[in-house]
Amino acid sequence: ARQAGKQMIRIYEKDDYVQHYIDEMTMETELVKGLKANELRVVYQPRVSCHDGTIHFEALVRWHSALLGNVSPESFVTIAEKSLLIEDVTAFVVDRVCRDMTEAPALFEGRRVAINVSPVVFRQPYMRNVLTVLASHGLSPEQFEFEITEHTLMQEPLVGIQTVDYLKEKGFRILIDDFGVSYSSLNYLKLFDINGIKIDRSFISQLDQDNGLKEYEIVKLIVSLAKKLNLEVTAEGVETEAQYRAIERLGCDEVQGYFFSRPLPPADLHAALNALEHHHAALRHGLSGRQQ
Ligand code: C2E
Ligand code: MG
Ligand code: MG
Ligand code: MG
Repeated sequence: ARQAGKQMIRIYEKDDYVQHYIDEMTMETELVKGLKANELRVVYQPRVSCHDGTIHFEALVRWHSALLGNVSPESFVTIAEKSLLIEDVTAFVVDRVCRDMTEAPALFEGRRVAINVSPVVFRQPYMRNVLTVLASHGLSPEQFEFEITEHTLMQEPLVGIQTVDYLKEKGFRILIDDFGVSYSSLNYLKLFDINGIKIDRSFISQLDQDNGLKEYEIVKLIVSLAKKLNLEVTAEGVETEAQYRAIERLGCDEVQGYFFSRPLPPADLHAALNALEHHHAALRHGLSGRQQ
């Protein structure tokens, strides 16, 4: 019976593997179709300055597949990175962002849009094309930021350094996304001449918990180090007023999270900005924020 049990486990694992493979293949095929059928969207999540309430955005891709329903970017971006499809996904996002910015100039006036960039496309030939696209819409690098995950840069550090330098020279800002979760976070600060870091949500979500003392000390250390290195610090995934208060006390420059706003389609941004300005003003005067 024991033998049979082992056999079953092996068969089960094999099926699982095959199923996983089929799922990935299906997703890839559907993503090719989805790109053609215009199934992708871009939503914008406001990022609020702790100093003066200035709002910038992060662009986040969305995909509603006719066959698969809503697919999280974490899943399909990973799949797209394995093929060269990520080039098309990124091109779609860049183009969509440019259109949104030129269609509603007042909304984006004085606000930067941060675009997430995968390691596969974070190199000069590709990013040069991105620059060309922006220029063709009459937009300038100062209106944009690129968010790169730590792991992005380290795969090929030299390429990473060159690309960061190239983009900064053109006037783009570069942020390190999900800061703190990689093994070599500090190494990035040493090697790459970036503008800011976004502290990973996993540190922020514990800040208002009784067992969040470690996280509190870690965030405090990250912020003080960032200040010394002249980097701007954004806290990601702020969900409660208590988290916001802690973050503000620790001296973060910018906050982003559901406490302020979820990612929104462009049509909803105008109303959201008005509400956010009131919300931020109320917070500054010590009044409680919105319901949590
Ligand atoms: P990210 O760049 O770290 O984006 C932040 C993620 O946290 C987003 O998830 C956002 O919706 C979510 N988030 C924001 N505030 C909160 C909060 O208060 N609580 C919680 N629980 N979550 C919050 P999303 O949109 O599902 O994106 C997941 C990841 O997929 C992104 O993480 C990014 O790495 C990747 N991604 C998204 N859009 C793109 C894209 O256009 N290109 C590339 N290459 N990657 C993308
Ligand atoms: Mg990001
Ligand atoms: Mg992030
Ligand atoms: Mg993330």
